[in-house]
Amino acid sequence: MKIQKFGGTSVGTAQRMKEVVKLFTANKSSLVVLSAMSGTTNTLLEISDYFAKGNKESAAALVGKLHLRYKAQVEELYSTPQMKEQTLQFLNDHIFAKLLEYTKGDFTPQIEKDIVSLGEIMSTNMVANFCKEQGIKAKLLNALDFMRIGEDNEPDLNYLRTNLIPLLESNADTPYFITQGFICTNHEGKVDNLQRGGSDYTASLIGAAIKADVIEIWTDIDGMHNNDPRYVEGTKPVRHLHFEEAAELAYFGAKILHPTCVLPAKAAGIPVKLLNTMQPEAEGTLIDNHFDPGQIKAVAAKDNITAVKIVSTRMLAQTGFLRKVFEIFETYNTPIDMVTTSEVGISMTIDNTDYLANIVDDLKQYGTVVVDHNMCIICVVGDLRSKNVGFESTITNAMRNIPIRMISFGGSEHNISFLVNQDDKQAALKELSKQIFQ
Ligand code: ADP
Ligand code: ASP
Ligand code: MG
Repeated sequence: MKIQKFGGTSVGTAQRMKEVVKLFTANKSSLVVLSAMSGTTNTLLEISDYFAKGNKESAAALVGKLHLRYKAQVEELYSTPQMKEQTLQFLNDHIFAKLLEYTKGDFTPQIEKDIVSLGEIMSTNMVANFCKEQGIKAKLLNALDFMRIGEDNEPDLNYLRTNLIPLLESNADTPYFITQGFICTNHEGKVDNLQRGGSDYTASLIGAAIKADVIEIWTDIDGMHNNDPRYVEGTKPVRHLHFEEAAELAYFGAKILHPTCVLPAKAAGIPVKLLNTMQPEAEGTLIDNHFDPGQIKAVAAKDNITAVKIVSTRMLAQTGFLRKVFEIFETYNTPIDMVTTSEVGISMTIDNTDYLANIVDDLKQYGTVVVDHNMCIICVVGDLRSKNVGFESTITNAMRNIPIRMISFGGSEHNISFLVNQDDKQAALKELSKQIFQ
């Protein structure tokens, strides 16, 4: 069976939802994972923020606006008055009335999670009702019945397998299944989610759990491009990526793919395809276990990076210094992305600054600490094995006019990364495209 995940823009209007149904019914069978209609999750978060701040009027006004948007889509999606009525009733009773209920009580963090889960519940119900109206045999599965995270916030694969597979087996004559991306329950049995953009992760986890033939991520662009199309003109789709290359690009900012999405597919050896709903005939990108020697594949950039440098002459010829420094980051559960070292200092980057003040405080016992904010990691991905001579110099030559704070190379065979000021990001991305791909 195929897993097909359709993102926010792909289900962004009634018309797009119809296209999605056309796309998945072209297969003999498929398990379809849907995101919320584009903009919905942002609006739900904004509503929840108004609730949190005690501004119930603004929250209610936004709820009303969102309801109007959905009513218009329902009008367009269905051709029979019965299905329009049934769907409007569902949205009213289970979504919008519920949202307004929150104006009555006190706000809790759990309410935010409940609210933010509603987008995927709406989109999947709307598409499932459309299938029903069209006489298409598609079964709506509630992701909360099989998608769960543990106390460590990691997905519970065993729970997924033991709950999803029997559901599919007991509906063996159903060709199409539709379920929500992003949402899950947690170890307390409460509604939770897999973080923003997490529908890709849902698709990959399900694909791995049921040993799907392929995991297709359908979005609004014809595959992974060789640079960020939001900042560079003339980018081109990359036809093929190794899992590791895709993982590095996703982690370092290629928004088309959620960073966590690669791992389950890679572990299960299931190919991932990135495809375009607006141009379904386009080839897209295939991600699998094959590696293309001698090629630089793409460039990506990750914003909002903070660099932390500690300098200490006490580090000279000392053992255990690195460990002490890293332990401080570990204590505050803050992952480090890039590291460079010299005889007298270490530079590291983090993107989670929740505990920055504590980290800096603790580091000061070992040396002088310098922090730089608003930095950006530029990452070039491809065959960067040392025997592939010459690419490093092409890449560093492209960066010749950009002030560079750190360079990291050799940690993997697929990646060279630069830390630069966020203001220099676009210039660096453009010049890299020019030097590497033109
Ligand atoms: P979806 O809502 O379908 O999950 P996303 O907005 O998360 O879609 O991802 C698709 C977007 O990712 C594209 O519209 C594009 O602007 C952005 N993007 C960033 N970097 C890349 C890249 N290297 N290749 C393709 N798209 C990219
Ligand atoms: N709707 C969620 C979000 O906007 C999940 C997703 O689209 O992948 O983050
Ligand atoms: Mg996405």
